[in-house]
Amino acid sequence: MARKHALLSASSAERWLNCTPSARLTEGIKDKSSPYAAEGTLAHELGELILKKELKQITTRKFNIELKKIEEHEMYYKGMIDDVEDYTNYVIETYHGALNKTKDAFIALEERLDFSMYVPEGFGTGDCIIIADGEMEIIDLKFGKGVEISPINNSQLKLYALGAYEKYGFIYGIENITMTIAQVRLNNISSWTITSDMLTEWAEEELKPKANIAYKGKGETVPGDWCTFCKVRHTCKVRAEMMLGTYKKLSKDPKVLDVEEIAEILGQAPDIQKWAKEMQDYALEQALGGTKYPGWKLVEGRSNRKIEDQDGLAQILTREGYKEDDIYKPKALEGITNLERLIGKKKFGELGASYIVKPPGKPTLVTEDDKRPELDSVEDEFDFN
Ligand code: SF4
Repeated sequence: MARKHALLSASSAERWLNCTPSARLTEGIKDKSSPYAAEGTLAHELGELILKKELKQITTRKFNIELKKIEEHEMYYKGMIDDVEDYTNYVIETYHGALNKTKDAFIALEERLDFSMYVPEGFGTGDCIIIADGEMEIIDLKFGKGVEISPINNSQLKLYALGAYEKYGFIYGIENITMTIAQVRLNNISSWTITSDMLTEWAEEELKPKANIAYKGKGETVPGDWCTFCKVRHTCKVRAEMMLGTYKKLSKDPKVLDVEEIAEILGQAPDIQKWAKEMQDYALEQALGGTKYPGWKLVEGRSNRKIEDQDGLAQILTREGYKEDDIYKPKALEGITNLERLIGKKKFGELGASYIVKPPGKPTLVTEDDKRPELDSVEDEFDFN
């Protein structure tokens, strides 16, 4: 089921808390449906279904009927159950742990959470809430596998927690709130705990004033990491100025960059590359829709020849005496990711473990906070070819 979104939604809170005018600037602009979003929605449905069966909230018959519908969805792949089970197993283990503490332990799935006492018209949907003995845990399933998401000070989870606290805090006497991200396809299940007092203090002192400014579309436009999913990111002037302004700041020596300046450019480079590619894609889409950019024109791109009738050509060539081994490519196995999707992560792990190696990666420059150990930079000690 598609989830409704509020103007000041929990999922976009990081953006509108940092750049308050962005909520109104993006209002009414349609979200482009992406295959990743559709896959994530399906994974949530699957997770909820598995949990409902485990918790005996639905019969096996109902489970099988609903599972069949999910399996018929175009975004479904065989390994999806394995991926989602990392989340459902965590939920079940946590719930059993809560039941061990008190038989009154409570669990809610896909709960609508209202945080409009702090954020005008604010609501969202929490994937799972578990409460026992003055402790509440909010568990959020994330299906993305791009960037690892941390639960620490995570605005989206804090808003869900506020909604859940408002609903259950008084009834269950909740003192501590744990927020857990289950980013299953990155093996990232991590938690962060704060007291309910700290959460409500943040909500009163920081969230509420900013949400009111954001609701009015006021405040300063501030670019940052939160621009990634902003619907006006292509046309946002402040963001463009930030990207293009990098070089203007480098003015120590007018001719040559020093190591500090190069380090600064390295930090900005991925964002600039991504932004430039987004601008090219956006402008192309607009041009296809009729927009004319001064000095630019639409042309047909370069293309390569391709064989339209492979069987027909192969027949002619073999009739002419060419061997099949020479005219056909050798058979090759699918890549590991595709095989995992086909067979399932766990089963593939069992079957494929002794056939797979992980060669050393090529040297890469990363920032110091990266978890990987530092390489000795004497080049000829390594053979990366
Ligand atoms: S692109 Fe970034 S800076 Fe511009 S409005 Fe959106 S969030 Fe704010």
